[in-house]
Parts: sequence; structure tokens; C-alpha cells
Amino acid sequence: MASPLRSLLATIEAAVHAILDLLRLAGALAILLVLAVTIYSMAISSVPPQLNRQLPAQVRQPIDADHDGLRLSLEQQLGTSDQHKDLFVVVFVGHDYRPLTSAEQAQLTSFWASMPVANPDGRDGIDVHVLRQVPLNTTPVLTIDESGSSNFDTLRSQVYTQRNLGSWRCRAHGVLLTTVDSRTVSGEGATPGHFAVVEGTPVTYRTIPYDSRVIGVTHELLHNVVGQFPDSYTNVTAGHAHTYSGVLSHAQVPGEYTYISGPTRTILSSRGFVTPSANTINAC
Ligand SMILES: [Zn+2]
Repeated sequence: MASPLRSLLATIEAAVHAILDLLRLAGALAILLVLAVTIYSMAISSVPPQLNRQLPAQVRQPIDADHDGLRLSLEQQLGTSDQHKDLFVVVFVGHDYRPLTSAEQAQLTSFWASMPVANPDGRDGIDVHVLRQVPLNTTPVLTIDESGSSNFDTLRSQVYTQRNLGSWRCRAHGVLLTTVDSRTVSGEGATPGHFAVVEGTPVTYRTIPYDSRVIGVTHELLHNVVGQFPDSYTNVTAGHAHTYSGVLSHAQVPGEYTYISGPTRTILSSRGFVTPSANTINAC
């Protein structure tokens, strides 16, 4: 006998079953969605470079997602992440000088790692890799005159060569530790580019955690990767290469050399490294 109450209960029961079925379906769909996203992200992170180039733009991996000048295919070969900036360095050591010590290399790594520069992986900093140190048979001299002109280009063409760098040319930065003959500065770096010269005599400071060659190498390598600042960021009368404060300034206070300035941070975070264009690749 069908009473109105029994019919109401049956309706409620049917509704509860329908809701439970929907919840089960939603749960299954959610699991499928998570699986699909996982499989997609695993697949997309291992797309071979040749295939990647042929994919439609919407699904193609960016060629240099972290804007460190190292292409995705190279980062995959090297085992480095294309989500975090890397800086590869080959150090050339003038005959009268000694290579970077392990303490100096550790300082260099920690200085760059601690820079507040943004990366796609959400972790700040730049990973510096000293690939090797190459002792030279001679001690080249960088001579910078009062007007600022120097023999930098000559030294670059002698040291930063295909013979010395092989396939690392225009990928790794070459730093020459040697004699710097100047009354005002202790090094020079291509602005932008891939070569720098730094005074080879080490000085240890009591008040700051970085030795002189670490600061010199950092200053000149920043010139390499930042290049010229826009007018609004810099003291134009002193050229476009230096900031008012921080390790890229010509500050007289050693404490200024332990950090990078706001403009340097902004440029490296938003644009990344300056990379060689077709016009400059021969001079990188
Ligand atoms: Zn400088």
C-alpha cells in the first residue's frame, strides 16, 4: 500500500543515492584530472629538443625559460634546471697569480646564490659554476688610461678563444685574473658580454665576508649579464654601466660591495641576462 509518507521516503532515498553517485563520479573525475596533469607535466619536462621545436607554440617549452642565456637543450645536456639561472665561468690565471682558492669559490657561489633575483622555480638567486681554472704561461697586463680606454679587447681576443673555450665559447664567461694597471679601477668587464679581467692580487677584508677577487669577479660578471642600465636607473654622467649603490657601484664603503642594488635586482629578475645577439656573437 503506497502511503504518501512511504512515497516521500522513497523519493528522499532516491535523491540521496543520486547525490552519492554524483559524489563518486566527481571523486573519480578529480583523480583522473590529477593523473592527467601529472602525466602531462612529466611528458612536457622531458620533450626532446628536436620534437619540442616542432610542437605548436601553445604547448612548446620555452627555449630559455629562466633567461640565463643557456638554451633548454643545453640545460638538459648539462643536467641544470631551465627554471633557475645558471652562470658558468672559466677562470684564466696569469702566471704570477694563484687560482681562486676553494674559500674564494665558496664565497663566489654564496654571493650569487644569495642575490634576490627571481626565477621561474620561485627560488631566488643565481647558481654559479666554476668549470675550470686555466693557468697561463704569461702574465698579461690590462692597462687602463686616464680616459678609460684600455687594451681589454686585445686581451679578450688572446684569451677568450675557441681554442681555450671550445664549445663553451659564448656560453661560459671567461674571467682573467692578472695585473690591472690603473689608478682608478681594479678590473674591466664586457658590458654586456662574456669576458672580464680582474686584478689577481687577493685582499681579505676584516669587515665584509667577501675577499677582493670575489667582489671584483662579481662586479665584472654583473657587467657581463646586466649590460647597460636604462637612463632612469643610473648616473648617466658616470656612464650607464654602474649603479649608485651595491656591488655594481664605485662606492668607497666596502659594505656596499656585499649586495646588489634595486635596479640590478629589478633588471635581472624581470629580463634576465643579456644574451649575445647576432650582432655581438663574434665579440662575446
Ligand atoms: Zn665597473
